[in-house]
Amino acid sequence: MAAGRIIIFSAPSGCGKSTIISALRDRGDIDMRFSVSATNRPPREGETDGVHYHFLSTADFRARIAAGEFVEYEEVYPGRFYGTLRSEIDRILDSGHNCVLDIDVKGALNVKRLYGGRALSIFILPPSLDELRRRLEGRGTEDSEWIEKRLSKAQWEIDFAPQFDHRVVNDDLDSAVAEVAALIKD
Ligand code: 5GP
Repeated sequence: MAAGRIIIFSAPSGCGKSTIISALRDRGDIDMRFSVSATNRPPREGETDGVHYHFLSTADFRARIAAGEFVEYEEVYPGRFYGTLRSEIDRILDSGHNCVLDIDVKGALNVKRLYGGRALSIFILPPSLDELRRRLEGRGTEDSEWIEKRLSKAQWEIDFAPQFDHRVVNDDLDSAVAEVAALIKD
């Protein structure tokens, strides 16, 4: 069986990363299996343990850090930990499939450092920060303080973009999906 690769996606919030990943999955021509991360944040409505995340208590999360069960973990928001389990990556790669990670910028760069040429890191960019602001405001669910926080975090995240293998601008969804598909097939 062909050896699987790790495909890592990162993007600031509001860049359409999840939409791109779902569209790629819907194409059906790319082998991709999702690594289920662990987190200590509570499940949101509609999220299932073991499917969206492995939802752990903070004590359990810390115990697994101590046991060396994570390939990487980050405190993405204050008090909120997220980590990639070695068992998830091994299970998917050992079965010959590509393993998709949707993780934050620091986690992404750590996984790339560990797996080198076996990993492909892709950063999704907004066309501009002004456009990102318009998209976040367009959701209409967040107040302006929250939007400013997301935008300043976005700038911090975009500063890491040059360290990724590839950068894809999500200006037009279909073109961005086609571009990512071509990178993976390469
Ligand atoms: P959410 O709480 O909205 O599901 O995810 C928040 C952030 O955590 C997203 O940026 C997501 O990419 C990141 N994230 C999810 N899983 C992991 C992980 O295993 N490791 C790291 N470093 N970040 C993760």
